[in-house]
Amino acid sequence: MTVADQLRSLIRTIPDFPKPGIQFRDITTLLLDPAGLRLATDSMAAAIAGPIDLVAGIEARGFVFAPTLALALNAGVLLIRKDGKLPGATIAEDYALEYGTDRIMMHADALTPGARVLLVDDLIATGGTARAAVRLIRKAGGVVTQAAFVIDLPELGGGDALRGDDIEVHSLVAFE
Ligand code: 5GP
Repeated sequence: MTVADQLRSLIRTIPDFPKPGIQFRDITTLLLDPAGLRLATDSMAAAIAGPIDLVAGIEARGFVFAPTLALALNAGVLLIRKDGKLPGATIAEDYALEYGTDRIMMHADALTPGARVLLVDDLIATGGTARAAVRLIRKAGGVVTQAAFVIDLPELGGGDALRGDDIEVHSLVAFE
């Protein structure tokens, strides 16, 4: 079995979550499996080129893989959070949703300008979240050229959009 097939077999699909018509790709079943968690982490780490100073995880499921990947890459962890969660001075970036907008934040002093940052999340769909995170990290002076995802939904175009932002996109398994 390929790595993609092994991971695919550990990811569960929940129909009609969070709303009717959505097929939610649920990684909690992958996380319950020690070999699967290690395979996902090691496979993402192996794809990353060059030294990384910080792995930026996007709340909430990006927080699961950021520390495992950071330990594998000898990097620190940068938390990118939803609005209103961080205690210190923050910088923010807004992004469009189907209806309305959303906002992500990081601590303004979280990185030294020039720091090499790897972005990580469990899944990329339209790319709206990841692209906002790239803008946020760049606004703070970070250098982000790579992003890693367990799952890509290529039909939604997020990976291509992110490549258009000069990001090398690494994903382990694609779902239609
Ligand atoms: P995007 O901004 O690329 O459209 O959506 C990606 C974000 O939404 C990620 O932070 C991801 O965790 C979450 N997301 C959207 N759909 C799914 C899904 O089917 N499964 C999981 N695990 N996360 C999803």
